Amino acid sequence: MRVVVYPDPILRRGGKRVTRFDQELADTAAQMFAAMYEEGGVGLAAPQVALELKLLVLNPKGDASDKTGELVLVNPVITSRKGWAFGEEGCLSFPDIHAEVERSVKISLTYQDLAGQERTLQAEDWLARIIQHEMDHLDGVLFTDRLTPADKLRVRPKLAELEQRFARATS
Ligand code: ZN
Repeated sequence: MRVVVYPDPILRRGGKRVTRFDQELADTAAQMFAAMYEEGGVGLAAPQVALELKLLVLNPKGDASDKTGELVLVNPVITSRKGWAFGEEGCLSFPDIHAEVERSVKISLTYQDLAGQERTLQAEDWLARIIQHEMDHLDGVLFTDRLTPADKLRVRPKLAELEQRFARATS
């Protein structure tokens, strides 16, 4: 399972609602965790591995040996938000790019687990930030879309570098 890198158009497709809760879905989530840990990430959304599914995995601890932080969210929907704060983010689809993004501080959401069971979750701070970042991927939204104008200018050369790399790889 390979992580798709910007500006691959796959990242803009987002994900479709998951309707089948079977072994294949569980296997996909397990493979996504493996890819996430291998790349040193704390979250990974299905569109980042070229799957058009509303599915994401995360572990705020980013540590493969500590699975207590692992969470799989299927078809997540944010139902309430509170507060705003800037915080630094990176993304496995944007190697070597970090920037501040404004996110809600506290969120409530509904989602389904791998068995299809409806669940609710309250999250704040770092966890809430990861969930919002990964949920954006399910809508084809990338964290660079949300940068301040100053940061957009600052990361422009790095984005151009990724765009050139992609053009070379696909030509
Ligand atoms: Zn990302």
